[in-house]
Order: sequence, then structure tokens, then C-alpha cells
Amino acid sequence: MLTAEFVKDHARALGFDLCGVAPAASFPELRRIREWMSRGYAGDMDYLPRTAAKREDVRRVLPSARSVIVTGTVYNVDRPYSTEIADPGEAIVSRYAWGDDYHEVIGRRLQDLLAWMRSQHDAPFDALAYVDTGPVHERVYAQYAGLGWIGKNGCLINPELGSWLFLSEIVCSVALEPGVPAFDQCGTCALCLEVCPTGALVEPRVLDATRCLSYLTIELRREIPEALRAPIGMHVFGCDICQDVCPWNQSPARSDDSAWQPREGLDHPRLLDLWRRTDEGLAQLVRGSTMTRAKSAGLRRNLAVALGNSADPAAARVLDEVRPDAESGSFTDPMVQEHLRWARGKKP
Ligand code: SF4
Ligand code: SF4
Repeated sequence: MLTAEFVKDHARALGFDLCGVAPAASFPELRRIREWMSRGYAGDMDYLPRTAAKREDVRRVLPSARSVIVTGTVYNVDRPYSTEIADPGEAIVSRYAWGDDYHEVIGRRLQDLLAWMRSQHDAPFDALAYVDTGPVHERVYAQYAGLGWIGKNGCLINPELGSWLFLSEIVCSVALEPGVPAFDQCGTCALCLEVCPTGALVEPRVLDATRCLSYLTIELRREIPEALRAPIGMHVFGCDICQDVCPWNQSPARSDDSAWQPREGLDHPRLLDLWRRTDEGLAQLVRGSTMTRAKSAGLRRNLAVALGNSADPAAARVLDEVRPDAESGSFTDPMVQEHLRWARGKKP
């Protein structure tokens, strides 16, 4: 007979740092998603309006659902925060992307958990497992499972572990005892809203994704609006600023899992080294990591912007270097060319 405690114990044995159970229900936070989209904050992420109805209530994803088992996995490793990097030649990559693709790594662990649940339960049951891939607003279910609260920066914060967490979930038709929802501990703090370089956090917990560096450097497939290029700074994939400054991340948990350690080439990456790579060289570097999502042209575009912003004198020179692949691959993309012109125009 499967119980919530039994599942949580086994999740920990499989390497998950957190596990809790939320009821398969709709919550007030989920019903605000449509209003958020109606303000245009989802930008080009068309999959969000397409799946809005499901996101409002997990029972529209799995009609027999009774429970949402949410897991959390710490991915933080022992490296400085992006806000501590003063070197103008260093490329900034969001720390979740330094290691292996979490969809793959956590996905395997989640399937192991589900297989074990099936082996333990006395009857067949319906279940769906997602790692940031399904139409489930996992942070909200994580909060109702007692894993932490949704901070003003929109991230799930666990009071002991911080917010460097991968979330994943199993939606299932087994009724398990839900946890106690976590309470908000942001208090009067508003640091994340104050430091966001583009003002993307328009209100506590309300993100205008179209201004967020994570959206601009990963999800956006078009030109980055010119007014937002300077605030991108040296970010070439994602942004961690609003988590770096969070008081709950000042003594954060760290993982020694080899999957999340920075791969060679992404441990203090140099803008120049990344730029000088061919498309194949870039693809080789990011193979098996979430950075593949940005595609060659997206990464090249981001690197051009970062080099344009960099105060490193070598950045100007490298933008003008004659390169054998200048007439091929991502360099032939008009979007890349336009950003390259912009970057060169920033140099004396
Ligand atoms: S990730 Fe960066 S750009 Fe996005 S809200 Fe946080 S600080 Fe702002
Ligand atoms: S920086 Fe402050 S307001 Fe923002 S999420 Fe952290 S505790 Fe909450």
C-alpha cells in the first residue's frame, strides 16, 4: 500500500532532495495565468496560451488525478554567483545550464520513482511524469506540497535549501496524504525587484517575460529589442541575478552530483573562447546540456551582444577578426548579422 511517507522516503533514496504531495486541484495562483498572458507577458511562448486551460487545473491533464507528487533537486555548485563576477571577459551562463540536461537526468530518476510506485501499489493506476515539460505549473503544486514558497522573484524557495532547485512531478490517480502548504517568507524584502536589470519583475511574483534576460537569451528566436541589449551585459544564456541576491540563497545547499558540475568550457567560460568556436565547436560544447535550446544562431546572437557590452579591450578586436566560417552557418543568419553590426557599433 502506497503512502505519502513511503513515496517521500523512496524519492530521497533515489537522490531527490525534496519530495512532497499536493492535492490534484486548482489553486488561486493557477487561475491568474490567463490574466498574466492577457497582459502580453508570455511573449512568443505560444505553448503557454495553447495549454492555459490545462495549466489552470492538473485534472485537465489527467482527469483521474488525485495527487501531484513534486520533487526538488538541488543543482547549485561551489562557484561564485554571477553578481560576484567582475571580469569583463567572462561569459555568464545560468548555473542550471552548466552541467547535464536536467530533463534527461531527473527524467530518469522520476521514471524510477514511478516504476517503484507501480511495483508497491496494490492496483494499477494512471500517472504522468514531467520535468518542466508538461502543462503543469509545478511551482504552485510545489508550494501546496509544502516544499517552499514562491518568492517575489517567481522562484520556489525552500527555507533550508534556497531556490537552486529543479522541480519535477508525478501526477497520479492515487490519493496520497497532501503536505502542509508552505508560507511566504519574503517579508518586506524586495531585493529581486530592485536589482533586475530590465525591470522584468513588474510586481512581486509577476514577471514580464518579454523583458527577462532568460526569455531574451533563450526563448526569443528573433532580434533582441535594441533597448534591452545593453542590460543583457555579459549574459549569454539565462540570468540568475534575482536568485543571486536573494537572502535565502546566501548560505545555499550545494550539490556534489557530477551531473550538475560545470562541464569543461562552461567553468568560468570566456566570451572570446566561445565566440571563436565554430558552430560545430559550440554544438560540441553544449551537447547534452540545456543550452542546446538556444540553437547556434541564438547563441551566436547572444555572444555578439555580450561582446558588444563587454569592457574587455579584446572584445572589440575579436568582433573584427577574419574567420574562415564567416560565410557559413550561423554567420549567414540575418539576425546574427544585425546583432554583430550593433556590437561593432558599440566599440570605439
Ligand atoms: S532572471 Fe534576470 S532578467 Fe529575469 S527577472 Fe530575474 S533578474 Fe530580471
Ligand atoms: S530577494 Fe527577497 S523578495 Fe526576492 S524572492 Fe528573495 S526574499 Fe523574496
